[in-house]
Amino acid sequence: MEYVIEPLATPSLAVAGVGSADAGEGARFPVRRIYCAGRNYAAHAREMGHDPAREPPFFFQKNPDALLPSGSKFPYPAASRDVHFEIELACALGKGGSNISAADALDHVWGYAVGLDMTRRDLQGAAKKLGRPWEAGKAFEHSAPCTPVHPAGAVGHPGEGRIWLAVNGEVRQEGNLNEMIWTVPEIIEQLSALFTLAPGDLIFTGTPAGVGAIERGDVMTGGVEGVDEIEIEVV
Ligand code: MN
Repeated sequence: MEYVIEPLATPSLAVAGVGSADAGEGARFPVRRIYCAGRNYAAHAREMGHDPAREPPFFFQKNPDALLPSGSKFPYPAASRDVHFEIELACALGKGGSNISAADALDHVWGYAVGLDMTRRDLQGAAKKLGRPWEAGKAFEHSAPCTPVHPAGAVGHPGEGRIWLAVNGEVRQEGNLNEMIWTVPEIIEQLSALFTLAPGDLIFTGTPAGVGAIERGDVMTGGVEGVDEIEIEVV
């Protein structure tokens, strides 16, 4: 078969622990879709003006070609004056399916990474007000900085641990994975009731309180205890 234009390369993330039993040298994790959970930490739901009652989680997507490796420069995006960071634990699926039960969910997880759900908050806010889709606020170029993926065989399935983000060394977001309203297995259960999940899907699991704006020249550093740390410079 011949394509009429050059087909895109498969978006992917590096795999950490190169040379481990799980991954050969230079191994990459191919990314099919990026799903993101919204408002999954009570304190963040409150700061965004919502009641953090345990209503079912909701999801949106970013495009896999929006991934930006940790250590890269994040170009301040067009059309916004209020670009926010959201530090998140990302879960990388090695197996797919639909209607996956929470009890079976972790068998579908290949590994974990630390990501930033970069958000044009002004455009997202305008969309919310008008009842319009969120893509302009959430799914722009480079909007998904992310570390390499760490095999679950190496880092386990983190259910607690510090999650934080600092700007220019000053801590702005601070939380613990055990404060998630919906756990990783529960998120997979709910998401797989809506979509057929597949190997290569990456799920951003929500952000703790303290989100805020960045400016050109800022350096964002953050991490999830026991998983990895990310560093991104805004240019
Ligand atoms: Mn988010």
